[in-house]
Amino acid sequence: METSCEVTSLHATIFGMTAIKNAIVIGGGIAGPVTALALAKAGIQATVYEAHALTDRSGAMLTVAPNGLAALETVGLRAAVEAVGNPLHAMVMEKGNGRTLMRVPSLPDLPPSRVLYRADLFDAIRTGAKEQGVTVHDGKRLTGVQEHPDGITARFDDGTTVTTATADLLIGADGIRSTVRTLIDPNAPAPEYTGLMSFGFGDLTGAFTPGDIAEMHFAFGKHSFYGYWTHPDGSDVFFSNHPQDAPMTLAEARAVPKSEWLAKLRAAHADDQPGNRLFQATDEDAMMLTGPMERMPRLPHWSRGRMVLVGDAAHAPSSSSGQGASLALESAIELARCLRDIDDVQASLGKYESLRRPRVEAISEQAAKTNNGKTAGPVAKFMFGVMMPIAARTFLQPEKMFGPVHRFRVEWDETVVV
Ligand SMILES: Cc1cc2nc3c(=O)[nH]c(=O)nc-3n(C[C@H](O)[C@H](O)[C@H](O)COP(=O)(O)OP(=O)(O)OC[C@H]3O[C@@H](n4cnc5c(N)ncnc54)[C@H](O)[C@@H]3O)c2cc1C
Repeated sequence: METSCEVTSLHATIFGMTAIKNAIVIGGGIAGPVTALALAKAGIQATVYEAHALTDRSGAMLTVAPNGLAALETVGLRAAVEAVGNPLHAMVMEKGNGRTLMRVPSLPDLPPSRVLYRADLFDAIRTGAKEQGVTVHDGKRLTGVQEHPDGITARFDDGTTVTTATADLLIGADGIRSTVRTLIDPNAPAPEYTGLMSFGFGDLTGAFTPGDIAEMHFAFGKHSFYGYWTHPDGSDVFFSNHPQDAPMTLAEARAVPKSEWLAKLRAAHADDQPGNRLFQATDEDAMMLTGPMERMPRLPHWSRGRMVLVGDAAHAPSSSSGQGASLALESAIELARCLRDIDDVQASLGKYESLRRPRVEAISEQAAKTNNGKTAGPVAKFMFGVMMPIAARTFLQPEKMFGPVHRFRVEWDETVVV
């Protein structure tokens, strides 16, 4: 399908425009429906347009941290998400040989992070949003926009039919490969490859089993970083972040037979404990190629005219942060709060960006350092193994590690001022 992205800019006319009454939200993933719900709470009607039918259960597992749960609470979805997530009580950092470097329990006065199937998170959010009156149109892929003095028109093209929708504002919640991002800035940077390919193992597309996860283990294997935990049904779930110099797209990686990838991973984890056992005992059917690990570099512009970005489209931090979904949820609430409280739309979008940028960029930078640690050579790994237990005994306490990220709240009831 040909994608044409036509933009007519009318900045002079738009500058100074007041109070948004309705919005088009592009993307029905995590940020999109939550943005629409938060906008409804702010008195702004929003409709979600999603390119896919989202009926498949692909996408492995992810974590929603306490800060993400707090954002969900603002729009009444926390309980629905907690109901399909397994509480996580501690993280354990290990050497490749299984020796513990440090154990970090969840902060006792916060709800534990929830580990859940990405598809269950999507279902809970979309179902909850629809129940609260949000309209989600599936099979609507944004291909272009046209801005007018009094609104913006989005064009959707499914290959056979072209449809349009018009509103005061268009919000790009369309993920790391955002179309809206390139409509805002054709020169916007593309996602950055981290040098790691990610593979998940276990019944990753299975049904939710209630129960707790006592510990999630993260291990600096001899050649590949990996993680593992026991699912409440007793099965092993594990992943590998495998260094791979040459960048590959997901499609290119999928073109490589699974047997070849599995052989590479078995060789990479041969000297690791329990990595060796886990990767030997598994088979190709239990393997999910999650793909190249990517993050968004610093984006010069989050908005332009009547368009603005939210979630991965603006600030995908790479999965090493464990914060992709939670930051997307926070930004959804913050955007709606700014549009609620600041009538001048340019001022409102500017305020939203200034409130979000420092936090999301700091978390993304931290995740980039973690990624460097995952690709580090043997000397750096050795030093890391020596330093980490000392750090854990002295300054690296759970509150210091998790507090600033997990305690963050977008205070919905407080008024935003320019
Ligand atoms: C396939 C996949 C698997 C993932 N797996 C994990 C994981 O295992 N662990 C983890 O921590 N994080 C994972 N992530 C990242 C995590 O899900 C994101 O950080 C989080 O989903 C961000 O939410 P979002 O709403 O900003 O973006 P997304 O959840 O990516 O949602 C964007 C939505 O926009 C839609 N869209 C895109 N382009 C258009 C268009 N032109 N028109 C209309 N709709 C469009 C997409 O179909 C998608 O539904 C995954 C992301 C993807 C895309």
